[in-house]
Amino acid sequence: MSNPSLLILAGDGIGPEVMAEVKRIIDWFGARRDLTFDVTEGLVGGCSYDAHGTPLTDAVMAQAQEADAVLLGAVGGPKYDKLDFSVKPERGLLRLRKEMDLFSNLRPAQCFDALADFSSMKRDVVAGLDIMIVRELTSGIYFGEPRGVFKEGNERVGINTQRYTESEIARVARSAFELARKRDNRLCSMEKANVMESGILWRDVVQEVHDAEYPDVELSHMYADAGAMQLTRWPKQFDVIVTDNLFGDILSDLAAMLTGSLGMLPSASLGAPMANGRPKALYEPVHGSAPDIAGKGIANPIACILSFAMALRYSFDKGDEATRVEKAVEKVLADGVRTADLMQSGDGTPATTSQVGDAILAALDASL
Ligand code: NAD
Repeated sequence: MSNPSLLILAGDGIGPEVMAEVKRIIDWFGARRDLTFDVTEGLVGGCSYDAHGTPLTDAVMAQAQEADAVLLGAVGGPKYDKLDFSVKPERGLLRLRKEMDLFSNLRPAQCFDALADFSSMKRDVVAGLDIMIVRELTSGIYFGEPRGVFKEGNERVGINTQRYTESEIARVARSAFELARKRDNRLCSMEKANVMESGILWRDVVQEVHDAEYPDVELSHMYADAGAMQLTRWPKQFDVIVTDNLFGDILSDLAAMLTGSLGMLPSASLGAPMANGRPKALYEPVHGSAPDIAGKGIANPIACILSFAMALRYSFDKGDEATRVEKAVEKVLADGVRTADLMQSGDGTPATTSQVGDAILAALDASL
């Protein structure tokens, strides 16, 4: 059997710096775990614009469609701020998401014990938190028609339309049920079925998919506003949450901030299964290209490394190896090897990006 393929698009700013540490971990798996990937690299974002006049070439788009998984660093930067909207770095990322039809956006909110004091919440509320928000990414109110600002009589009216088909709801629900099965087997679906017809349909379809295909998963339903309250009151009550594009946008940012730092947050966007059964998949840290610290070798590589761990778990069915990476990260944080974004005054000298990489590799060695 051929090796699984991985397309790496490091992008701009700190993207290449954090991705360099991921590449060392990929090499480690080849050397120490007999797990070798066929890695190719390409350009996306501003660096692609500089080289080709477009933030994503057709050739790289085609490679992404073929790859078993795509791993992206970050795109953008002040150098590109004045470019026309059509060629801005972010358009490269949006094209990837759209053409790969990545409808299921996975945003874990995980709080390592060693970092619980970085959260604005009380330590016991967040320490050990491990939840997953699945956001529908390609439909709903950000895409529905009609949309626009129209004239009505002598005033303007702004219109957006929340629209979901049964199949759109069912496919993201299936993706969330599958995830729940790989975790604690519990799924909470959030909508506003009390005031929105699309919410009533959402609730019905999620329940139908459950009853027909996933009766073993514990399913609950919650109104999204109550969900926001519960997420701040006692987030550990949840395992997997599935919700629409708009509520997911808000709730996933809320949940992310329970955990403290932007440099720690991975994400995955999954699409339909390919011929080999693997879903189309793009893994990327939540943070951007951090131009304020780019080139200094001080960026936190952990969000990108945890994104690779998600690829191991969700694209390559290597949950044990993903856990190995997560445990190595946990150990390094507990040992106090941290970049500046994870330090408080009096904590000592911050580690560099590559020192964190060194420490994670040493922890991986120690795990064997
Ligand atoms: P940002 O995430 O790049 O940075 C916000 C703050 O967090 C900065 O102070 C930065 O130094 C810090 N930070 C971010 N990641 C860090 C890390 N790994 N380690 C340590 N500190 C880190 O967001 P921004 O400043 O709003 O945007 C900068 C550029 O990135 C813009 O061009 C924006 O469009 C782009 N952006 C890209 C993505 C993406 O590629 N997915 C996401 C968000 C923003």
